[in-house]
Amino acid sequence: MQLRFVGCGDALGSGGRFNTCFHVTGKQVNFLIDCGASSLPALKRLGIAREDIDLILITHFHGDHFGGLPFLLLDAQFARRTRPLVIAGPAGIETRLAQVMEALFEHSSKTKQRFELSVVELQPEQTRAFGAVKVTPYSVVHGESGGPFLAYRIEAEGRVIAYSADTEWTETLIPAARDADLFIAEAYYYDKVVKNHLSLKTLEPHLAEIKAKRLVLTHMSDDMLGRLETLGYTAASDGMVVEL
Ligand SMILES: [Zn+2]
Ligand SMILES: [Zn+2]
Repeated sequence: MQLRFVGCGDALGSGGRFNTCFHVTGKQVNFLIDCGASSLPALKRLGIAREDIDLILITHFHGDHFGGLPFLLLDAQFARRTRPLVIAGPAGIETRLAQVMEALFEHSSKTKQRFELSVVELQPEQTRAFGAVKVTPYSVVHGESGGPFLAYRIEAEGRVIAYSADTEWTETLIPAARDADLFIAEAYYYDKVVKNHLSLKTLEPHLAEIKAKRLVLTHMSDDMLGRLETLGYTAASDGMVVEL
């Protein structure tokens, strides 16, 4: 199994990076984690076959994690996709998806897809299986609008991938990421503490308890991107592949 960072940028395009989108593929699985506004061109740049993707997990409804869905669905329709697609995310996802589709492409939310599209709400700490992908969401803390906010613990093909999503430090990240083979953690700032986002220095004291086998930092601001050489941690870059 492998995870490819299709995009690991923030909402502001820091470092010219694409919005958040990770592509996981293996013998039995093919799914995305988040689909930000710039994710369709990012997927195309990497030559990723969108029609093979079975599942898209959404962490929250900010444009840099969710805003790519109208483009992806439009592309699927024009490409005459036939394979069923599941989009799963926080409570309210069906309404939010219709709203963003209407805002970007009027009447598109009422277009009947040529393929079977299922939109599924996930509840915190209720595990759901989608084919060979087992997903456990955890509530995280990321402000007043654009939520609910979910981190994910994902089990597939004998491996565990955890993703913090956007969040300030919260204790739920411990069960979400404990002993994970790969923990993708937001590190928006190096040591500046702000509401709703995680800084590396806030995360660092918890890493020993989390004990992830591998940590990759993502969603970095210019503050972090200017320090990549001296961080001592693996930082994501667009196109980077992690073998699991
Ligand atoms: Zn974000
Ligand atoms: Zn966000």
